[in-house]
This record gives sequence, C-alpha cells and structure tokens, in this order.
Amino acid sequence: MINQERLAQDFNVMRGITAPGEGINRLAFTDSDWEGRAYLMRQMEAAGLTLRTDAFGNVLGRLAGKDNSLPAVMCGSHSDSVPRGGNYDGLAGVLAALETVRSMREDGFQPDHPIEVVLFMCEESSRFSAATLGSRAMRGELSSEDLQHLHDKEGKTLFSVLKERGLDPENIAGAKYTQPLKAMLELHIEQGKVLEHEGIPVGIVTGIAAPARFYCDIHGAADHSGATPMPLRHDALCAAAEIILAVERAAGAQADPPVVGTVGVVDVTPGVMNVIPGDVSLGVDLRSIDANAREQVEQTVRSEIEAITRARGLRYEIRPVSKESPARMAPALVDLIAAEAEKAGIPYRRMPSGAGHDSMHWADYAPTGMIFIPCRDGISHNPAEYASIEQIVTGVQLYSAVMRRLAVRGEDIS
Ligand SMILES: [Zn+2]
Repeated sequence: MINQERLAQDFNVMRGITAPGEGINRLAFTDSDWEGRAYLMRQMEAAGLTLRTDAFGNVLGRLAGKDNSLPAVMCGSHSDSVPRGGNYDGLAGVLAALETVRSMREDGFQPDHPIEVVLFMCEESSRFSAATLGSRAMRGELSSEDLQHLHDKEGKTLFSVLKERGLDPENIAGAKYTQPLKAMLELHIEQGKVLEHEGIPVGIVTGIAAPARFYCDIHGAADHSGATPMPLRHDALCAAAEIILAVERAAGAQADPPVVGTVGVVDVTPGVMNVIPGDVSLGVDLRSIDANAREQVEQTVRSEIEAITRARGLRYEIRPVSKESPARMAPALVDLIAAEAEKAGIPYRRMPSGAGHDSMHWADYAPTGMIFIPCRDGISHNPAEYASIEQIVTGVQLYSAVMRRLAVRGEDIS
C-alpha cells in the first residue's frame, strides 16, 4: 500500500533542503542538490535497495528480483531544480519510485525482475545550459570534452564541478548504461493545464515532443520613415509579421498529431522609430511528438516565407539551429498503464508531453512510459508549483500497480 504520510514526510524534508531564496533552489551539483541527493540515497538504502553511483553521480538503487538474470525494470526521475523552482518537478518521480519499492516490501510483493531505481543528476538546463545530462551520460552521449565545454555562468566547467564532488569525469564513458532493461517508467507533474482543466487525475504520455528550430533572416531596405512613400518600401518587419502569423496558422492546421509553433525571437535592425526596418531575424520553434507532422509544418512555413518575401521583393535566408527526434512511448506500455487505470477506476487521458524529460533518452533503449499528474494552474519552474498529496498518491498508486505488472515474468510489452 502506498503510505500517504510517509510520502508527504519526504516532500516536507526535501522542501527544507534548498539554498536560500524564494521557492526551491537545488541547482545541479550545488550544496543543496548534493544534500538532497544524500537524503534520497539514505531513503533508498533504507528501502532495501543496493546502491551504486556512476562517474556522473547518477544514483542507481537495485532491488533484487527472484530471477536476477531477467532484465531490470528501471524507474526514477531527478531531484535538482531550476532557480526559484518548485518541490514537485522531478522529485515527485523519484519519490514515486521510492515509495513503490517500499510498498512492495511491506506488501510481501517479490518482483521476478530486478528493479532499478535511478536518481538522474542534472536534469534541468539552468546551470550548464543543457538538459538531462545525467541521462545523456548513462546513454554514453557525453564525452570528457563535452564536460570541459559545458560551464555555468561563473565560468566553472562541469568537468571541474564533478571533480569537486569526488566524481570521475575522466571516466565519463564508464557511466554508460549497458545492461538489458525490460522497461523504463517515470512519473512527473504535467507542467501544463490540460489535466486540471479537464478534471482528470492522470495523464498517460504517448510521446515526448522535440523541437526543430531555425532562424529566418529577412533582408529589406532601411530607408527614411518619413521620406519613403508606402509603395516604394521594402519593410522586413512587415514581412516578419506575416511570417509569424503563417507559423501560427500552419501549426494550428496540424491537429492530429498536434504540432505547436512559436516565434519567440524577433530581432529588428536598426530598431529605431525613424527608420523602416531593414533586417529582421526571427527565431522559429516547431514541436511535435511526430517528426513527420512537424516536418510537414516546417515545409509549409518555408514555402510561406518564400511567397511572402517574394511578394514584397525581399531576400531571406534560413539558418537551421537544431532538429531533435521526438521520443515515442511504447504503445504496449501505454495500453498497460491504461488497463491498470481502468482496473483501479482512475480516469485518465492519453496526451503528449511538450516538455523534455529523462525518459526521452530511454525510449530507444527499452519500452518507456510516463505517467503525468496535474499541477495547480499548470505552473512549474516557479515557487508557486504545487500538487496536492492526494493528487500525488493517486498517481503513485497507478505507478506502483504498473511497476508490479512490469516486474512479473512473462508480462510482454516489447
Ligand atoms: Zn522534471
């Protein structure tokens, strides 16, 4: 049984482990993050897990199965925070895994498969401008050179920060996780308003969206704003305005699977009142859990850019920034979570995740699934971030039921 008081107690203790300031401040590898990690390690040990840590500081706690030659079921999340963050982003997933393991022992449930509870380090990009670094290290995607290049705003490299914590950045390759996994499961707050808005206690994630980003540089003519008649202008910002609306239209027209499109950067040159905008740079971000749908929207946007600039007699270039692959959650695992929710009488909806998570790095390694719980007003990365203990317990009960199904030999989700 999931013990609500014990879970609440863990959230309370962790709420006290923070650097001074409003909200929760457990920036990756700072003293407060390290202290939180130490607390969680003690709880993992007390829950009967055998702990090991890797070169990056990720903590892996293993619960033996009846047959340890079977692939493990991985579960967990992160406990670092953004500056002025909340106590639920990440931590809810770590405590869900911890409480599940405790409850298994108390209920006399012995898994056939071993269970691997993971505390992933440095999930938030706030300190080193790159996210999910612990997962990346475990997937063998971080080199010693990467650790030298990544640095915080004081100029301290991640390499030296790891060194200071007694970790082993020279041997970062050794952090690569190579053991077979049956599945990976993560619980997380939604960080959006959908569940709350619909009054649904649980979301089953179908995929984790990834961005395609590019700059669009538009070149017109910067002429006198008083002396240039309207028909003779080559106003780059007017074209940019049309392009911004074209992005909104193209993404909005792609509903299933959904694509979201945002122009979050508009740099205008020279950017003064008495000169017609000569050059504009737009930063375009398109996201979806479906790479094809996202690609189609990008192609529509590109042809709109071509048409809009041609009609206005302007030049443009596209500068690609990044194109990441969305992660698909395993359909069989999505179905299994839905079946368990139905069995427990917990209403649910299937939904994409717009935000990135550790899980996205595991989807191509093992069948991966995520359970979302609502958070108040959809707010996260903010001191106002909140989920009630009742909301958390409902999610953890489902999570625990799914973990038990996965831990039984013969439950095929591949
Ligand atoms: Zn998170």
